[in-house]
Amino acid sequence: MDTFNCLICYHEKQGPVYEVKEMMFGTGERFSYTQCPRCGTIQQLSPPAHMGRYYPVAYYSFSRLHLSTLPVRWMKNFRFFLYRTLGLSLFRPVYGNWLKQLQAGKNDRIADIGCGSGQLLYEMHACGYHHLSGFDPFLEDSVRVARGLDLFKMDLYQIKEAFDVIMVHHAFEHMKDPDSAFAQLAGLLRPAGRLLIRTPISEGEAWTLFREYWVQLDAPRHYFIPSVGAMTLLARRHGLELFRTEFDSTSFQFWASRRYQEGKSLSGIDPAQLPPAEQMQADERKARSLNKVGKGDQAAFYFRKPG
Ligand SMILES: [Zn+2]
Repeated sequence: MDTFNCLICYHEKQGPVYEVKEMMFGTGERFSYTQCPRCGTIQQLSPPAHMGRYYPVAYYSFSRLHLSTLPVRWMKNFRFFLYRTLGLSLFRPVYGNWLKQLQAGKNDRIADIGCGSGQLLYEMHACGYHHLSGFDPFLEDSVRVARGLDLFKMDLYQIKEAFDVIMVHHAFEHMKDPDSAFAQLAGLLRPAGRLLIRTPISEGEAWTLFREYWVQLDAPRHYFIPSVGAMTLLARRHGLELFRTEFDSTSFQFWASRRYQEGKSLSGIDPAQLPPAEQMQADERKARSLNKVGKGDQAAFYFRKPG
């Protein structure tokens, strides 16, 4: 066996291996994942060197926003499509609550890392925030969208400025190395700065129920899925305080995972194939009650840097 190292706690003993199929598009290609027996982080064992091909161009037409060849933005657009067209709530715009928890002031310097089209920043700009920067390596080009709203074609490690508030919405798990990514994020915060990371997490009931069919494994696009303990460990290691954790899972974890169990992909989904409204509402209620007891399959982590 190759040498194993947990991407977050560096434990050297490997846990059980799960063979996970690519199911978003239904190619069926298999990828190996394992779960760290110490910190609970799920990680991919041999991720593809060239990830771009797992975000097929043919599917970009799902997007209603400006199109270009970028993986994470595509993902967000796809989820936005699910939200807008099918009424699903994985990416329900709840930024009011995020900004409140982050105590984001109108004069704060605010960054959205993995911003995709910049939709969230655009909406914030309309609300009067005016020091907004979006970063995404897959943008076609850097662009000034408006005075006080700039998008930069840069990856996390190319950013040089510092910020009062940084947000990372479902982009962290698309980064290869969570430890160095977190170190970089902590380094980009100004004193007393706040960081929000929203990500799937490994303690959810959905992982226990569905295992290799759990939709949020999203093989091979997700390099890893942290546990709450792993996020706490990263904070401590890099000098941040984890001051709030909110579970924000939705019905998506159930109906989409059940689809995967039945061997059905998510692309090309027709609204008529979705579960009936009553089932969806029952799944949504179940998600809410799991969130209350810390067993939802995704969460929002709020961190603070000492002043
Ligand atoms: Zn670990």
